[in-house]
Amino acid sequence: RAKAEGKGRYHVFDRRRDAPELERLRLENELREAVRSGQLELYYQPVYSLELGRIAGMEALLRWNHPRRGTMLPGEFVPMAEETGLIVPVGRWVLEEACRQARAWELGLPEGASPMVGVNLSLRQFQNPGLVEHVARLLRETGLDPALLTLEITESVAMHDVDSTVRTLERLNAMGVWLVIDDFGTGNSSIAYVGSRFKMNHLKLDGAFVREFLDDPENPTILPGLIDFAHAVGLRVIAEGVETRGQLERLRELGCEFVQGYYVAPPLGAAEATDLLTGRKPLFRGDPPPGKDTP
Ligand code: C2E
Ligand code: MG
Ligand code: MG
Ligand code: MG
Repeated sequence: RAKAEGKGRYHVFDRRRDAPELERLRLENELREAVRSGQLELYYQPVYSLELGRIAGMEALLRWNHPRRGTMLPGEFVPMAEETGLIVPVGRWVLEEACRQARAWELGLPEGASPMVGVNLSLRQFQNPGLVEHVARLLRETGLDPALLTLEITESVAMHDVDSTVRTLERLNAMGVWLVIDDFGTGNSSIAYVGSRFKMNHLKLDGAFVREFLDDPENPTILPGLIDFAHAVGLRVIAEGVETRGQLERLRELGCEFVQGYYVAPPLGAAEATDLLTGRKPLFRGDPPPGKDTP
């Protein structure tokens, strides 16, 4: 085959060219194994309610504790998993683990303190015909209150095949699961469209987008309009990537309902996340914003 490609004969032995592909193939096989051997872990990052002054949700964020490479972030393997289809078994594991943890919090925390647990779904997971059934089965098997599960999809996932998105979201909505449009502001779909066509409950503003507008005095008018418009079409607004107290205060003034970001708390392993929920570990590193949140 190398000969048929002519100059390609050299390419067969070109380490520089082949190494990334081999490394990728290796990573693919390792990920297949990682699901079985317990190397995947969910971290949880609080979604803080500015109205209630407490944690309302926990977003599950996938980590791979790789034996050679250490802790890997989703950006380092989710795109590969998406391309190879491995995201389907990986995503099933994520949903199962998130539902199990959500149920443990539901049972273990005082009445009303259980957070909604948010799971991110990528395109292939969302389009997988077994998704709705899998979610229904997990809710049945764990006994989890469906209102404690939120599913996050980005606008590009939602817009990929609008008719099938509408059908899938309607079935999930009918089960009582909450739906979030994630990373809003990075694409170009309209809030009116998202709010009217899709059965979404929450709009999550992308972190980079939020910071860009809050920190740039040249752009003071765009974010307020966006938040008001989201409210007008019945969507509650979560701002992600909130890194400073000033950003939180500004978002509160703008009527944003929820904030998420390093200022509140970073993503943490399940044990530390539980400590946040029980108050054993402080939010805001013990330095909360002034105002009605201070106990
Ligand atoms: P996302 O859903 O938008 O998640 C928010 C990302 O922002 C997380 O990155 C989080 O660690 C990071 N972040 C949180 N607070 C701050 C902040 O204050 N400042 C900044 N600069 N960043 C902040 P992470 O954990 O690396 O996840 C990246 C993306 O990977 C997620 O973006 C999500 O799209 C995807 N992802 C995560 N877990 C899963 C999963 O289980 N399945 C799938 N399909 N995708 C996942
Ligand atoms: Mg998300
Ligand atoms: Mg997001
Ligand atoms: Mg984001």
